Amino acid sequence: MASARTPSAPVGRTRDEYAGRPAAARSHLLHAGSVGRYRRIVAAGVDQVAQQVAGVDGPCTGIGPAGLAPRIDAVDLDRPLGDTDAALDELEDVYLRDAVWFHHPRYLAHLNCPVVLPALLGEAVLSAVNSSLDTWDQSAGATLIERRLVAWTAGRLGLGPAADGVFTSGGSQSNLQALLLAREEACARHGLGRDLLPRLRIITSTAGHFSVQTSADLLGLAADAVLALPTGPDRRLRPDRVRRELARCRAAGLVVMAVVATAGTTDFGSIDPLPELAECCATAGVWLHVDAAYGCGLLVSPTRRRLLAGVERADSVTVDFHKSFFQPVSASALLVRDGRTLRHVTHHADYLNPAGDTLPNQVDKSLQTTRRFDALKLWLTLRILGPDAVGALFDEVLDRAADAWALVDADPRFEVL
Ligand SMILES: *Cc1c(COP(=O)(O)O)cnc(C)c1O
Repeated sequence: MASARTPSAPVGRTRDEYAGRPAAARSHLLHAGSVGRYRRIVAAGVDQVAQQVAGVDGPCTGIGPAGLAPRIDAVDLDRPLGDTDAALDELEDVYLRDAVWFHHPRYLAHLNCPVVLPALLGEAVLSAVNSSLDTWDQSAGATLIERRLVAWTAGRLGLGPAADGVFTSGGSQSNLQALLLAREEACARHGLGRDLLPRLRIITSTAGHFSVQTSADLLGLAADAVLALPTGPDRRLRPDRVRRELARCRAAGLVVMAVVATAGTTDFGSIDPLPELAECCATAGVWLHVDAAYGCGLLVSPTRRRLLAGVERADSVTVDFHKSFFQPVSASALLVRDGRTLRHVTHHADYLNPAGDTLPNQVDKSLQTTRRFDALKLWLTLRILGPDAVGALFDEVLDRAADAWALVDADPRFEVL
């Protein structure tokens, strides 16, 4: 594909400084002749961010869209600045100065984490090499590294020897894929194929994540397919209610295709009673999905791993490394107890993964085709920091939350809900 000959001049360019000068444009591609520029440009960007991080005096400036929109609208995207420093100065103005800084001590909102440095190194490496995790011939070692991390995560979860999984773009995609697998398993078990769709139901709690509803919509289920049961005052699913709902559905001729338990609810951090729910699901023959997007940090916690007890009985688990492993967005995975269930997303294309190809590939297990090597960030985090250090950081977050609760609880002006 690569050719040493000088390509003919691009057509239809008038204002662009590169018109008729393909060699100049080519010097902006990463290749052997541009590594000097590569080093300088990335270093300049790192320098800019480092200065910003060193200087910010709050998690955000509080600017609104009305303040930012004119600056961004004023940029002429057809007239390049042609200069890295000028572009970084402009970026300062349109983005960096008013960005939201998750590392700041006063940052409290959302579940986004400050990021560990080894993961930032991984991010820089993975986007430069630009491996795509669909097939071996686009990834080589990257496929095997992702597989090792899937196996490592499944091992931490205790899912057993047949477990498998795949990295995803986030918890929403992991939940969607888990429910797709659960849907296909239910349809296969009942021998009705897609005719079963209108009768399928998903049990979760009102504190569960909204992506369960999005998934149900995408999966072609009935509008009322998600049965979001009210929680107790502890914001956890009540096993007695789940049992009652399972019985009610059975009596009504409905088929519960999955119970979605949440290990770390988004708003409250509550963890559904996993052992009891696993028992309910085993008895009823229902797929148990555990959404541990938030709670997955407990997998490496030196003091609180027991809070996830029962997760080893799940059929599928969502983990968001970009929530609780201090990884930059995106870094997430879906794990399944029985790797064979991933075949429900396998489709063959002659150009990519022809049937019968024996090389390892991840596209057969994924909803995505071209896919980032996000696993590298976790890999370098584990190789440089190690799991205990990540767990210690996660523990510190939980300790801080407990401290905050104690402080607010001791203040008569507040009632802690
Ligand atoms: C954040 C979150 C999700 C969604 O994950 P994304 O990575 O934002 O797509 C799902 N479930 C829970 C419990 C979450 O906290």
